[in-house]
Amino acid sequence: MKSQDQAKWDELMARWQEIYDLDGVSALLNWDQSTYMPSGGGAVRARQSALIGRLAHERRTDPAIGRLLDELDAAGVGREAESVEAAMLRQLRRSYEHSTRIPAAFAAEFVEHLSNSYSVWAEARPRNDFAAVRPYLHKTLAMSRQLAEFFPGHAHPADPLIDEVDQGMTVAKIQPLFEALRRALAVWVAALAQKPAVDSHFLQRHYPKAQQQAFGEQVATAFGYDFTRGRQDETHHPFMTKFGPGDARITTRFYENDLVNALFSTMHETGHALYEMGIDEAYASSVLDTGTSAGVHESQSRLWENLVGRSRPFWEHSYPALQAVFPEQLADVDLDSFYRAINRVQPSLIRVDADEVTYNLHVIVRFGLELDLLEGKLSVEELPEAWHARYQENLGVHASDDRDGVMQDVHWFSGPIGGSFQGYTLGNIMASQFYAAAVAAQPQIEAEIAQGSFGTLHGWLRENLYRHGARYTPDELLLRVTGSELTIQPYLAYLQRKYSQLYGTLPALP
Ligand code: ZN
Repeated sequence: MKSQDQAKWDELMARWQEIYDLDGVSALLNWDQSTYMPSGGGAVRARQSALIGRLAHERRTDPAIGRLLDELDAAGVGREAESVEAAMLRQLRRSYEHSTRIPAAFAAEFVEHLSNSYSVWAEARPRNDFAAVRPYLHKTLAMSRQLAEFFPGHAHPADPLIDEVDQGMTVAKIQPLFEALRRALAVWVAALAQKPAVDSHFLQRHYPKAQQQAFGEQVATAFGYDFTRGRQDETHHPFMTKFGPGDARITTRFYENDLVNALFSTMHETGHALYEMGIDEAYASSVLDTGTSAGVHESQSRLWENLVGRSRPFWEHSYPALQAVFPEQLADVDLDSFYRAINRVQPSLIRVDADEVTYNLHVIVRFGLELDLLEGKLSVEELPEAWHARYQENLGVHASDDRDGVMQDVHWFSGPIGGSFQGYTLGNIMASQFYAAAVAAQPQIEAEIAQGSFGTLHGWLRENLYRHGARYTPDELLLRVTGSELTIQPYLAYLQRKYSQLYGTLPALP
């Protein structure tokens, strides 16, 4: 790079680092709000979040960034499409163009509104008080539609909201994939409903929190989570968040009458954190220092939670250790019974507790509701009933209230309506693709998991996936790592193999 170009490059990187740090501060405020902040802090926290959001937005949309991008383009910097410079400029351009379409006042109002909405939801959900959140949801829907309008030329109002988190994805691409998956899962859920019930009552014995926490942290460490660059705290709705390259935190919640809820949530958030912790140090605090999409992120949380954490090889090694932690509670439970219990298929109300077979039906229901709300086919008033109706139709279950119905997930109460759910199922689909590629490259992975060793899998994922951060788009990354585009076949094959082994042969798909 010529020296005048180098100076421009350095200025652009320095400007981005300030944005990155403001985003980190914003994440820290959110983490605190979701973990330790007393409820009295809510009003001022909303104001603080809005302030940081506004400052970040001002910096993101500073015309100097547009000018630097244009000048570096004109000078031919990043002309080599495969170079890191090209990837950085592409992602910076994407951020700049995205942010400049959204007026600063709108962005600030939305952040403040969502912060208030979250606080109201957190108090209203235990009271089952949908009326309290309804006006907030109205405004969120109106603002989500308005947000989509800042991106003209989209085929569906959800498209720009989806593209923001799952770059390159659209309703038109997702819907046929989800519909094919829904049809397949419906066949298997119906078949599994005919099988004898699996006993899992022993998972609901008394399991003291301290031991659960210690065991979960041991598993996270074994997977590769680095507690010198992160920590675990408690929250209502578990999440992973990153404040910077050396601080990627996980959260969970403990139920003393449930052995595995916190454990699988810890594995899940650990998967997210491994991705963030594994990004190449050369990209630290740059625009590439983040996972490339919601779907790819979720592929890593689900990979560690399900493909590893709910697998028989994992428990061949770990079950004796778990029994040693809870000798009385698990004295009469053998490995096979435990393995069957943690993989019990049972249509239920709560997405985050759902088994692997029914899980995506929860997501597909929410995705459909989001589309209908955005299209104006469904009103906020009708939403609670529509929720119940679709649960009845797709899962055959009916919540007795809105707490476990429409108020169940934090997403619509803390973020836009649109774009917030498809990533979960895209992640499940991609997890199987990535895992199959890892095992094809390193066939010893499953035998190592059965020895309690995860280094080969973690190393392969870090080398092929994590270290790239946002260098490649989700499509590019998937193709690069697996040699294939997005396809549900490996996922269906995985489910069929696993659940046929557990329950007896599942019906072939039409
Ligand atoms: Zn997740």
